[in-house]
Amino acid sequence: MYMIILSTLAHIVDVNLKLDRRTVNNMSTPFDRVANGLKYLVVHHTASEAPLLESWNPYGYDYPEYDYGVDLDGTFRVGRPLTVKGAHCLPDNYPYNEISMNQKSIGFVLAGSFDKRKALDNQINQAAYNIGRICKKYGLPISRESIIPHFKASATFCPGKNTIDRIYKKLGI
Ligand SMILES: [Zn+2]
Repeated sequence: MYMIILSTLAHIVDVNLKLDRRTVNNMSTPFDRVANGLKYLVVHHTASEAPLLESWNPYGYDYPEYDYGVDLDGTFRVGRPLTVKGAHCLPDNYPYNEISMNQKSIGFVLAGSFDKRKALDNQINQAAYNIGRICKKYGLPISRESIIPHFKASATFCPGKNTIDRIYKKLGI
């Protein structure tokens, strides 16, 4: 009886691993976003007070949901490569809802829950510096048209008006 229970448990674990693997593969589709023409950089918050490495890959994908991020203490981190599809923006609002945003954009996240508090100055400084650097590297204009808050594309608070206004001010746009 004991052995039967053990073998049944082993089977259940094995089936679950296979399902997880299939989900993971769906979220890392090879796609060269740079070669196909980037149009936007979308700014997010994690809506969590956990460090980035604990919060930016909640479903255990091959890569984090975001391409770049600034951690709670201001540390800049690299997440998802631009050689796979993005996993950060499903747009609801016109005209973004007519664009494959996860193919056309970079996702940049700040760790923290900015519906409850404001981002630290150090995070805003690091975000603005790195967003400017990344836009230059990939030929994206440093403008309010190409650097957008998530709430402009989708029905969400993310990352908060205060957050994006402070980043724009640092970038001089
Ligand atoms: Zn967001």
